[in-house]
Amino acid sequence: RGTLMQGKRGLIMGVANDRSIAWGIAAACAAQGAELAFTFQGEALEKRVRPLAEGVGATLVLPCDVSDDAAMDETFAIIEREWGRIDFLVHAIGWADKTYLRGRYADTPREAFLQALDISCYSFTAVSRRAAALMDRGGSLLTLTYLGAERVMPHYNVMGVAKAALEASVRYLAADFGTRGIRVNAISAGPIKTLAASGIGDFRYILKWNQLNAPLERNVSIEEVGGAGLYLLSDLSSGVTGEVHHVDSGYHTVGMKNPKAPDI
Ligand code: NAD
Repeated sequence: RGTLMQGKRGLIMGVANDRSIAWGIAAACAAQGAELAFTFQGEALEKRVRPLAEGVGATLVLPCDVSDDAAMDETFAIIEREWGRIDFLVHAIGWADKTYLRGRYADTPREAFLQALDISCYSFTAVSRRAAALMDRGGSLLTLTYLGAERVMPHYNVMGVAKAALEASVRYLAADFGTRGIRVNAISAGPIKTLAASGIGDFRYILKWNQLNAPLERNVSIEEVGGAGLYLLSDLSSGVTGEVHHVDSGYHTVGMKNPKAPDI
C-alpha cells in the first residue's frame, strides 16, 4: 500500500460493477491511500456498487443520475455537508441508445443525438462545475474517452461525435479552472469488455483488431487504465492539464502495421 493519495478525497462516478473502468481507477487510488465517495445510477446498480465501495472503506455511496440537474445538486450538497471539500473527481460515464451504435451514423435521429451528447458530454461539464466549487486547494478532474472521437471506428457513430465534444470540453474546462490550480484531463482507453462496451456492434471484432494491430499486440486492462488514472489524479501530473492521454497499447499511433515485420 502506497501513500501517493494520502489525505486526498475524491468522488468516483460511473462504477457499474468490478469490470468498470471507474472501478480500476478507484482501486488504484484507494491502494494509495485516497478516501473515496461513489455514485451509482439507479437502484439496480446499488447492490453491485455498495459492496465494492465499502470494500475500499467508502462510507459515502450515493445515487446520481447525471441527466438530472437536481440529482447532481443533491449529490454535491451531500459531499459538501460530509466532507466540505474535495481533491479529485472521476467521470466514467457514457451512454447512447444502442439502436444507433450499429449501422450508419447518418441515420441518427435528433433525440438519440441529444441524449448521447447530454449523458456522454454535457454531464462532465455539469459535474466539473459542481466539483470545482469544492476544490479549494486545486484539484484534478478526469473523464474517459475513446479513439472513435478522433477517427471513424465501426458502429461507434454518435458516441464518436459525443466523445469529440467531450475532448473539446476537457480543453475548455482546463482553461476555465486553470488559474485555481484545477487540472482537467481525459484518458482515451483502448477497447475493454465492460457493460457499456457490450452495447456496441461487433465489439468482439474491435477487441481482436486492436489486439492484432496495436504495437503491444494485446488489449489493455482496467488496472492499466487505473494506473494512468492515478497519475493524472495525483500530484505526479501537476504540470499536466487539457490533455487526452491514450492508454491503448499504442493503437492510436499506428497507420498500418507491417505484415512482414521480423519478430525480434
Ligand atoms: P460501464 O458500463 O462499466 O460504465 C458506464 C457507466 O456509466 C455505468 O456505471 C453507468 O451506470 C453509467 N451511466 C450511464 N448513464 C448514466 C446516467 N444517466 N447517470 C449516471 N451514470 C450513468 O462501462 P465502461 O466501459 O467502464 O465505461 C466508462 C467510460 O469509459 C465511458 O465513458 C466509456 O465511454 C469509456 N470508455 C470505454 C471503453 C471500453 O472499451 N470499455 C473505451 C474507451 C472509453
